[in-house]
Amino acid sequence: MNRTRTTPPRPVDIAAVFPALAPLARPAVRLHPRSGSPTVHDSSIGGPLLWPAQQPWLYCRIAHEWPHPLVPVAQLYARDIPLLRPPGRTDLLQVLWCPSEHDPDSRIPIEVSWRTAADVTDVLAMPPEPFDADEDLYVPEPCVLAPEQVTEYPDFLELPEELKEQIKDPALWRAAGIVVDEAYPQELYNNALSHAPGWKIGGWAPWGLTDPVPRFCVACGTAMTPLLTIASSEWHRYSTSWVPYEDRVPGASDDSWSNPPEITVLDANHLQLYACPASGGHPHTDLVQ
Ligand SMILES: [Zn+2]
Ligand SMILES: [Zn+2]
Repeated sequence: MNRTRTTPPRPVDIAAVFPALAPLARPAVRLHPRSGSPTVHDSSIGGPLLWPAQQPWLYCRIAHEWPHPLVPVAQLYARDIPLLRPPGRTDLLQVLWCPSEHDPDSRIPIEVSWRTAADVTDVLAMPPEPFDADEDLYVPEPCVLAPEQVTEYPDFLELPEELKEQIKDPALWRAAGIVVDEAYPQELYNNALSHAPGWKIGGWAPWGLTDPVPRFCVACGTAMTPLLTIASSEWHRYSTSWVPYEDRVPGASDDSWSNPPEITVLDANHLQLYACPASGGHPHTDLVQ
């Protein structure tokens, strides 16, 4: 089965119009989760994890009467996503979270770990079921992935001031022969030319609900960069330029098709895990936005 997903080229080579953007280009890998039956040996969203039989499962003990088992969110093999920089000899990223309800002010309990796939010889056959199957907003449907690398630029809100001024200036777009909304040229930039919507590794963060907040590694002080973006959908009405060619069939580009994992990050559009670019072994942090 051909699972390839291909993002159309951006409508404008934005770094050619605003050369100061060029050094801010970052690679991102769009994961393109689609319903399927991944195994423990596949990269997946919501699929079974390659988990050692002898290692205890992870449980959430925050504000639950009984410990609630965490559920798999993502399992990503470095062979499928070279952009992952696994620490040491590890080659597999596993992300789990607690799907149950928590105090809205507290963070979603999320666990991120790296392991070495070859070390797992005896795989756990029966991981625990989610505590409450009703909590399905946060239990991802099993999806296989079609990783695709793209180039991203920062969200408009995260740009240096002088670039913001340039991108807000319709005269510069006009001079390059590009048709934009004269009142808000930055909308074309944000919706179609900067960062890709949907689940992804690396790249730039989507901002909007909050102003950009730099995050610094607690181990070394380096500014952290996005590791994994968990999204409530892969496209919206205003970001249809990012719909892969393969999904441009009648009905497929509707909003209802844009969220195969069926995850809804409540009160936000994204949940992001940040990693330290200096070392994959430094602690991760998360941010809902
Ligand atoms: Zn919990
Ligand atoms: Zn660090």
